[in-house]
Amino acid sequence: MEEEMRAAVGKTTQVGTEREKMSSQKETIYLDYSATAPMYPEAVEAMLPFFTEQFGNASSQYSVGMNAKKAIETARKQIAESIGARPEEIYFTGSGTEADNWAIKAIPENYRSKVNHIITTKIEHHAVLHACEAMEKAGYHVTYLTPQEDGTILPSDVKAAVTPETVLISVMAANNEIGTIEPYAEIAKFAAKEGILFHTDAVQAYGKLPIDVSDGKIALLSASAHKIGGPKGVGFLYVRRDVRLTPFLHGGAQERKRRAGTENVPGIVGFARAAELTFAGRQEREERERRLREHFIKRVLTEIPYARLTGSATNRLNHHASFCFQFVEGETILILLDADGVCASSGSACTTGQTAPSHVLSAIGIPDELARGAVRFTMGENTTKEQLDFTVDRLKDIIERVRAMTPYYAQFTDKNRR
Ligand SMILES: *Cc1c(COP(=O)(O)O)cnc(C)c1O
Repeated sequence: MEEEMRAAVGKTTQVGTEREKMSSQKETIYLDYSATAPMYPEAVEAMLPFFTEQFGNASSQYSVGMNAKKAIETARKQIAESIGARPEEIYFTGSGTEADNWAIKAIPENYRSKVNHIITTKIEHHAVLHACEAMEKAGYHVTYLTPQEDGTILPSDVKAAVTPETVLISVMAANNEIGTIEPYAEIAKFAAKEGILFHTDAVQAYGKLPIDVSDGKIALLSASAHKIGGPKGVGFLYVRRDVRLTPFLHGGAQERKRRAGTENVPGIVGFARAAELTFAGRQEREERERRLREHFIKRVLTEIPYARLTGSATNRLNHHASFCFQFVEGETILILLDADGVCASSGSACTTGQTAPSHVLSAIGIPDELARGAVRFTMGENTTKEQLDFTVDRLKDIIERVRAMTPYYAQFTDKNRR
């Protein structure tokens, strides 16, 4: 069985090489924007001077340093405006993961004298989940809420989980694996009323959904540059100004003494430029991406038997389509798609290489054997309808061929025919 698979992979690679020979340049179809987005050339350009003539340390007192400082503060202002925050509420971090860890670890620690309970969900990114697990080891209680079948976390479930001990509620704005948009604003409103701090991992939502923290309900929000066409290795944590936040890194006085370490000046500048471009084109992109996504989902579900859309059919990120294909392994599909130049993912870039089925798919009640057939396609500015049509055509063919080698599938279809 495995040998047959490998032979099939080899064959497709050969077909791929033939294709490469025919067209001197094989097109790569990138459909993994939720793992990382290609950088805006304008963001790269904005960064370049800060590697060369503007190389100064932002803490220095001469002009080349002060220019760097000025660039950081301009970026902070731009980023703050993108979510309706004040510049002094934005702390730059080394990643979205760092922003999540900071929120989860520093807040309960800081409010500990009163309370020791955290509420989160079973479908958070590992940056939140594993940070919560670390907090459990440190003696905190954590409630992990189960979503609905479409991935939605019910505000009523959040309310029911609150105890007098609850200090922090962390619910993501939108899920990376299944694209479902969470009612985070409603949960934030409830939390604010109860005097509980609310954090949202908005790494997938930032730049995709309108986010507005100006009503003061959201206490903490994480985002990351590389998911919106900025550089890797830079993120931010929004911290509402009344929230007591302990430093994440101790050292120098950077980020108002709360996140020490010489600032990643080019990264921060590139992040702000990417945010500017992303938000400027957001509404137009939203329309276009929704239309492309609907076309893609419709073709997959009507042309490929035993395919199931995961996550919400309607309340999902516009650029996001995720499926489970019965009787096939997601990994096999990805390898064969790659041979055709198509980049997709099995759900989350961070869990690639793990053999256990995704924690998100388990949480929404998808059985393990179906979860193993998970494939996620996430599109972006450069995605075209032609690319998606090509992808469906290849996908159809690949799944048919792989299933034909699966004795279980033959038995299943035989039984159904009788
Ligand atoms: C990518 C991602 C992260 C991690 O961000 P990095 O900047 O890559 O560390 C956190 N949460 C979600 C939902 C993500 O999609």
